[in-house]
Amino acid sequence: MSADGVLVVVSGPSGVGKTTLCKNIVARLPDTMFSVSYTTRKPRPGEREGVEYCFVDEARFQDLIREEAFVEWAEVYGHKYGTPKQALVEALHKGINVLLEIDAQGAQQIMERVAGAVYVFVAPPSLDALRNRLCRRDMDSREEIERRLHEASDEIANFKSYHYFVRNDELLQATKELESIILAEQVKTNRLDPEWLVENGLVEPVMMKKSVT
Ligand code: 5GP
Repeated sequence: MSADGVLVVVSGPSGVGKTTLCKNIVARLPDTMFSVSYTTRKPRPGEREGVEYCFVDEARFQDLIREEAFVEWAEVYGHKYGTPKQALVEALHKGINVLLEIDAQGAQQIMERVAGAVYVFVAPPSLDALRNRLCRRDMDSREEIERRLHEASDEIANFKSYHYFVRNDELLQATKELESIILAEQVKTNRLDPEWLVENGLVEPVMMKKSVT
């Protein structure tokens, strides 16, 4: 019905479960894809090149910055991450919804540069719950976890920059909320292409002219 897909920026503290939520959405919603970022961090066990991330070294990442290949990029906990521009623009033009799972700095850059995106903040049920999740992942030192919790609190305080706030307490409920957001955004009147109404015989061309003027 509308020419472009919905660009959905999913942000929130590290460890809150954004990746799992996005994977659930891609499995449930047709014509919805996950944007694969470039990163300078090393793959974790089980991560595949081109699936979770495109893994590159610092020099290649700098080349991509110079080539303006990223719609946004940021340094997150000592590693660089960037969203490739071309794949994103092509998918949106084909009517495919694109999920960007990025940190708050990246979300801020998209807000400044891209019109019409939808911003979803994913929050933990509590800071204690987030601490438990970060401890269970067993990837960071105690000091690093406390630093991330402090940052998480700052990010949550900035909730008003986002259109939606999803509390990831129960994964299925949070998935349903994110799915509902995307479904509702898809059918917003401002996304509807007036030509489509005419082409499908729902509106006489002359009526369309009247409603536009
Ligand atoms: P991880 O290394 O645990 O996969 O991701 C660390 C953080 O980097 C997460 O908060 C994730 O959302 C963020 N991130 C992943 N890809 C990108 C990206 O392309 N741009 C930005 N700004 N952040 C990203």
